[in-house]
Amino acid sequence: MQHFDIIIIGAGVVGSAAARELSRYKLKTGVLEKTPDVCCGTSARNSGVIHAGFNNKPGSKMARFCVEGNAGFDKIAGELDIPFRRTGKLVVGFSSDDKERLIAMKTQGEKNGVPGLKMVDKDFIRQIAPNVKGEFALWSGSTGICSPFEFTLAMAENAAANGTEFFFDSEVTDIRWDGKNYSITAGGKEFTSRWIVNCAGLGSDRISSMLGIDGYTIHPCKGEYFILDKKAGPLLPVPAYPVPNPKEGGLGIHLTPTIDGNILVGPSNEYLNDSDDYACEQDVMDMLIADGSRIFPHLKREYFIRNFAGIRPKLTTKEEGGYHDFVIERRAEAPHAVNLVGIESPGLTSSVPISKEIVRLIQEEEKLSLRDDFDPIRHRITTFADKSPEEQAGLIADDPDYGEIVCRCETITKAEVLAAIHNPLGVHTVTGIKYRCRAMMGRCQGGYCQTRIAELIMRETGCSREEIVYGKDDSWMFTGKVRG
Ligand SMILES: Cc1cc2nc3c(=O)[nH]c(=O)nc-3n(C[C@H](O)[C@H](O)[C@H](O)COP(=O)(O)OP(=O)(O)OC[C@H]3O[C@@H](n4cnc5c(N)ncnc54)[C@H](O)[C@@H]3O)c2cc1C
Repeated sequence: MQHFDIIIIGAGVVGSAAARELSRYKLKTGVLEKTPDVCCGTSARNSGVIHAGFNNKPGSKMARFCVEGNAGFDKIAGELDIPFRRTGKLVVGFSSDDKERLIAMKTQGEKNGVPGLKMVDKDFIRQIAPNVKGEFALWSGSTGICSPFEFTLAMAENAAANGTEFFFDSEVTDIRWDGKNYSITAGGKEFTSRWIVNCAGLGSDRISSMLGIDGYTIHPCKGEYFILDKKAGPLLPVPAYPVPNPKEGGLGIHLTPTIDGNILVGPSNEYLNDSDDYACEQDVMDMLIADGSRIFPHLKREYFIRNFAGIRPKLTTKEEGGYHDFVIERRAEAPHAVNLVGIESPGLTSSVPISKEIVRLIQEEEKLSLRDDFDPIRHRITTFADKSPEEQAGLIADDPDYGEIVCRCETITKAEVLAAIHNPLGVHTVTGIKYRCRAMMGRCQGGYCQTRIAELIMRETGCSREEIVYGKDDSWMFTGKVRG
């Protein structure tokens, strides 16, 4: 049995941000995550947009934390050595109705303190993004894009470097309070902790109930996407959104450049009964093409390399539509717990301010002391493809593994794959390697290099072929021999 001052349940972007923020203090902090890695849930499956904050109701936590998160993003991206670009964003309209809604969004954004909002005409759209259609638009200068995986991983790695312990394959199934400590059962292990922070995303309603807080139901709502090949990337320099339908509770089918040079098309909006249903359907894909083409008529099928789905942890039902504000609370039923429920969009953008709010709520009860040796700096894996030919030659001279390209599509070297395998969180799933160095994220989606990477995982970790897992749970890569 291990004892902690604070246990965080869930290692998505919010749990990882909380882990990093709490690692500034003299505390023993643990993170319990049911999957084999950080960022296996909603945090890996979104648009990767650092929103400005004009979509959210003035006075709401969503509006406040989104605006704060956006304003602070350059600093955190610098500390964590992650790529971030303030692209700006166009919300394009066609009708007088659209114009009214855009003006209302601009007014709402200004109330929230969003800088750099302006209504722009067709010429402006053409100058900024010649391939985007629209009669006029709301331009948001502060919107940006980041890699949601790298952001989450970087915060978790930095928390671990500052002493936080991560426990994977540790699904929390029971929580008991004895008047002083919580006893927690997770993945067959027992833990005790003075505090619990519920960052369980789609499972946050179940954790609330285990804490004795009833009345929350998460309504999972799926959003499906297409990923376009990097060949299409130069066609779209900034995110382009339609005017959202306020009844739907999403931002409409938009086109978003990714920080790595692809384009995302989506997401759709479909309420589900099952929070694990990540299937992508042909009719939704057809709808994405039809809807996306209205504002970006370059959706050629030859560009499509993959689809995926993310699931919104909504507190509003399909009938209610729209958004419920983030729930971030302390409750009498659960002493020494901070309960987070319904952290849907803009949760990625808001994660760092949410982590500060968690600390503030804990400090209402007890004073936390800062450590003298907290180090906010984390370094990313060297990216060979971004270097000049002279720098690449220098890397190869120092380490010949930079001279072997493993992933041809993304130009990822053996040295980068090995750095990903020896990651600070000790994760060895195939997806874990993919998220850490981008191998298998290109046009062929691992068709060429996946088995080579599996071989490197075996060699470096000493595991057997049958122990290699693709991503979650029992997703074994090899289950037996075909011949012999
Ligand atoms: C389609 C879509 C597009 C989006 N686009 C954007 C965007 O562009 N910008 C933006 O700011 N936001 C966006 N969001 C919202 C953002 O992705 C989420 O708000 C954010 O990722 C939520 O993070 P989280 O850590 O709360 O949840 P998650 O990432 O789901 O993490 C929760 C973790 O808890 C774990 N867990 C659950 N139950 C248990 C248990 N019992 N025991 C242990 N672990 C458990 C899960 O495995 C998971 O890893 C989007 C969301 C979706 C779905």
